[in-house]
Amino acid sequence: MLTEREEYLEGGFEELACARCAAVVRVRKSSPQQTSVQWTTGATRQCATTLGALVPTCPDLRASIDYAVLTGRLGVP
Ligand SMILES: [Zn+2]
Repeated sequence: MLTEREEYLEGGFEELACARCAAVVRVRKSSPQQTSVQWTTGATRQCATTLGALVPTCPDLRASIDYAVLTGRLGVP
């Protein structure tokens, strides 16, 4: 069994910071349409947006993710 941390790395999660609030989350693209975001406790506190679930609800973070995909920083299968 993998530990949670190893699973992040093995699962292709990349650390990404929100361009506005600099909250660092772990992001993984499983397909061009599907984005998995893991919010850390620090990130949820830092990002001003109300978060209900593991969904990128911060519009700036969403833009940051799109930009990371565009620049090839975030791999898309
Ligand atoms: Zn944010």
